[in-house]
Amino acid sequence: MDEKVVFMVDLDGTMWEDIPNEEAEKRTMGAKVFPNAVEWVNERHAEGHYICFFTARWAKLKDVTEAKLEDMGVKYHQLLMGKPRIRHTEYAGYHHIDNCSIIRANRFEGAWTPLVKKQIEVHTFEDMK
Ligand SMILES: [Mg+2]
Repeated sequence: MDEKVVFMVDLDGTMWEDIPNEEAEKRTMGAKVFPNAVEWVNERHAEGHYICFFTARWAKLKDVTEAKLEDMGVKYHQLLMGKPRIRHTEYAGYHHIDNCSIIRANRFEGAWTPLVKKQIEVHTFEDMK
């Protein structure tokens, strides 16, 4: 990847097994980390990208979340709590709109494999006439 970017990376269900906020205090430290997650993120960090973990965990879970990240040995620049929670809501997902020059998004499908270029169909703004 030529340009350095800010990676916004989810935690539950992405870095480790999916744990709802209601169970996170008890289950976080024992959460099963996905294979290659730490290595993948640490490689991007070493390449100079900015790593921001962006989670829908409640603010009161910050201490246990930081302890888990420390225990895993994952390198990051920032932890943002308070992403809008979509569990048990009418919302199907997130749609990011921003005026920066590069917008990329990936749905995590359970495997931390290399990022590759693909032709895909996306929802985007209609061109101005
Ligand atoms: Mg998640």
